[in-house]
Amino acid sequence: MDFQLSEEQQLIQQAARDFALKEVEPKAAELDRKHEFSHELFKRMADLGFTGTCFPEEYGGSGGDDISKALIVEELAKRCASTAATLSITQITPYGILKFGTEAQKKKFLPPLLSGGNLAAFALTEPQAGSDAAAARTTALADGDHFVLNGNKCFITGGAIAKTTLVFALTEPEKGLRGMSAILVEKGTPGFSAGKVEDKLGLCGSETVELFFKDCRVPKDHLLGAPGKGFPMAMELLDFARIGVAAQGLGIAERALEESVTYLNNRVQFGKPIGAQQGLSWYAAEMKVRIEALRGLVYKAAWLKSAKLPFSLDAAVAKYYGAETACFCADTALQIHGGYGYMKDMPIERLFRDSRLLKIYEGTSEVHKLVIARGVLGLK
Ligand SMILES: Cc1cc2nc3c(=O)[nH]c(=O)nc-3n(C[C@H](O)[C@H](O)[C@H](O)COP(=O)(O)OP(=O)(O)OC[C@H]3O[C@@H](n4cnc5c(N)ncnc54)[C@H](O)[C@@H]3O)c2cc1C
Repeated sequence: MDFQLSEEQQLIQQAARDFALKEVEPKAAELDRKHEFSHELFKRMADLGFTGTCFPEEYGGSGGDDISKALIVEELAKRCASTAATLSITQITPYGILKFGTEAQKKKFLPPLLSGGNLAAFALTEPQAGSDAAAARTTALADGDHFVLNGNKCFITGGAIAKTTLVFALTEPEKGLRGMSAILVEKGTPGFSAGKVEDKLGLCGSETVELFFKDCRVPKDHLLGAPGKGFPMAMELLDFARIGVAAQGLGIAERALEESVTYLNNRVQFGKPIGAQQGLSWYAAEMKVRIEALRGLVYKAAWLKSAKLPFSLDAAVAKYYGAETACFCADTALQIHGGYGYMKDMPIERLFRDSRLLKIYEGTSEVHKLVIARGVLGLK
């Protein structure tokens, strides 16, 4: 067992740390305030190889492993959780193409997404099908050489700006879940449109939209994987995505502690730094313990995936604990900062708002407890 990051991982961590501090941090508050996604930052991440980390170079990737990817997301989340979330979520579809795509699909779709500065969206959720993704109603019926898509998806990150969107739709509705397939839809395809950008509580620097499909014709060779296998494919891709959310939680929690330590040492009340009050110093201790426990869970899940070992349960445990830890640390940091933490001048209120989504998206905390319990009890 080795707890040391490899030399390559340390270099990637340092590059991500420098980029996040010098280029992301100065823009984070403004992107949040204006509810704006930064194409410029995303393009910079592509140039630095961050959007292609843990993908093979032959498809435009930049190599590296899943721990490297987690380290990048962690560093970004410390400075701007929106940027970290966008990077993390927009990797789900390329991962799906790499894992389930044909050689032709990999060559066609991956390079622009991994190194070209283009985004990919993952469209599973529908208005009536959130936690119960199997209740999806969007259809993709065969018609000659095409599938014809009808229906809508909601809460899709980057959906309006993505070059490629992976859409889960019923190709054989009469078969229910066994009739769900995964189809790649390109931006600009007639019949495919996006609604307004949602006005959210947090992660305001990432775009969330509803997607509409109206007699949208997509060539049959855009089917990803086998027909009828969309649902298990979506679940497998969410396993991968969960490591990314857990890494976001780690970054948010670390930033909350970093800000808290400075404040505990510098804010003077009753003639001494507030950190000298035992009750408040214990907050820092509790945050530290949870952060180190989470770090172990995130890196372990990423390591298992890189080692091609089963990682599904570990990813769910890390995601669940990552969301809880981010929320606990952001809330505690807000308490430590008192009234000043509640003001928009400080990054604490943004951390507090951003952390909250982690308990909801890519599977809620409640659903994660069900998934983890099933794994622990050995149930299918
Ligand atoms: C900002 C944002 C970005 C998102 N990005 C994407 C994206 O890119 N792609 C995508 O496909 N989706 C995306 N989502 C959707 C997200 O994954 C869903 O919101 C999430 O899965 C929960 O679904 P829901 O919101 O419909 O809540 P519901 O499923 O309606 O849940 C409501 C409540 O009931 C609880 N609940 C439901 N079922 C059970 C159960 N069986 N047992 C116990 N409790 C239960 C839930 O935990 C929750 O507390 C995004 C959502 C948001 C808010």
